[in-house]
Amino acid sequence: MIRIHTLLAALVAAFFAACSGGDQARPNVILITLDTVRADYVSCYGVHPGLTPSLDALAAEGTRFDMAVSTAGVTPVSHASILTGLNNQTHKLRVLSAPSGYKLPDDVPMLSTVLAKEGYRTVAVHSAFPVSRNFGFQRGFEVFEDMNTQMQTLPGSTKTQWNVATQRRSDDTTDVVKRVLGDEQPYFLWIHYWDPHDWNLTPPAEYMPPKEVVLDENGQIRRPAKELYAAEIKFQDSQIGRLMADLKARGLLENTIVVVTADHGQGLMEHGWAAHRLVYQEQIHVPLIVRVPGVKPTPVVKDLVRTIDIFPTILDFAGVKAPKGVDGRSLRALMEGKSDEKRLAFADQINGYDWNAGMKDREERKYDQFLYMAFDWPWKLTYRPLHPEQSELYNVAEDPDEANNLYAVDNEHAIRLRRELANARPWVPGPYAGKGQTPDPEKARALAELGYTEGETVDPTWKWVCPEDTVTDLGEMTARCPKCKTLPLMIRH
Ligand SMILES: [Zn+2]
Repeated sequence: MIRIHTLLAALVAAFFAACSGGDQARPNVILITLDTVRADYVSCYGVHPGLTPSLDALAAEGTRFDMAVSTAGVTPVSHASILTGLNNQTHKLRVLSAPSGYKLPDDVPMLSTVLAKEGYRTVAVHSAFPVSRNFGFQRGFEVFEDMNTQMQTLPGSTKTQWNVATQRRSDDTTDVVKRVLGDEQPYFLWIHYWDPHDWNLTPPAEYMPPKEVVLDENGQIRRPAKELYAAEIKFQDSQIGRLMADLKARGLLENTIVVVTADHGQGLMEHGWAAHRLVYQEQIHVPLIVRVPGVKPTPVVKDLVRTIDIFPTILDFAGVKAPKGVDGRSLRALMEGKSDEKRLAFADQINGYDWNAGMKDREERKYDQFLYMAFDWPWKLTYRPLHPEQSELYNVAEDPDEANNLYAVDNEHAIRLRRELANARPWVPGPYAGKGQTPDPEKARALAELGYTEGETVDPTWKWVCPEDTVTDLGEMTARCPKCKTLPLMIRH
């Protein structure tokens, strides 16, 4: 008798929890952001087999998005979009370092703040400084294991390169997750992995490529870039596998949404650049894998989607109402095999106003100080307001390597995308001043220790023109063109 009563009571409780959307019904959420991982180095994307069996296994249980793009090629900016569902001009975190403009404003809802209000235990475990509390990412987290306060110069070293004391390798990060997550459910866990970002913190010997070790003048390992990049991704994947096995053994993976993406990719000299901070496909085409319990999803979605779509997708599947004004749209329809309205993607790099971008000091990168991208698959425009004649337009379906610039050739698509860009108003018309956010000596020191050298920013003068003819002067940033009715385009005066 007692047993039947207990069973009935449990059923009634489960029924009410399900109906009220109470904690019992809420799925856990794991968001894994892989720093500096291009889509084509995740094996299920079909180019480099055998590197990422753990990610491939997740993709096999969920949906792999074939053409997901991030909003920037620099860590804090693109992470802000993932965590808020907002484009850069809306969340306002635009640069890595400046007197202001590098911090997420306090009133912008984040996944953590929204899910914390719904009763989630919120935990973040990070692997490097650029996603630390210095950038405002700690809000809403009950546990926030960032790399903000553990910075120190390595004993006996005076190097100004990336400092291993300021970053965690994925095995350490995984250990911290296992230690701090706890068993309380539902939980929201954000893990940031970082291994392929640079070559100073290398994987264990058995993962290293079988090539001769090459050291630079500072004693840093400079192995052939592509092999080492692949090795770091392979080791990192083994740690993701270890984490998933641990969570599964603890019963924490059953009712759990898992989303894996990257903040940006990495140039491996495709466009003469072995880093990020640009908006070519090798920098902004990122992996996106979404696995939702109980949903039998479409295995592969080909449509262009954006990392700003992650925020509304997670809330949608968690049964939580998204805040007003989110730029991204839930990916549920595409995951369920339905068609969905086309998405327009935006990305930018405000390198010219970023203390740490260094574009100004490099002759070969002088055109990359301000990059504004609008991407309406397959047409991708990268507009350079400081050097408009150096803008780029590609048909990415026909030209995935972005080798054949059609900007001067295909006027129709160039104009259309300039109008889309102008209406989105992504412009930053002046360098970031010390408004409300004063330069932080601790942050400057941290960035210097990570090898970022502070350069001067540029300060060009701009004017506002019709995006169709780029000649008609519209005077103000907020004026509409009397002819074509669009908002103005920013251009060098
Ligand atoms: Zn990054």
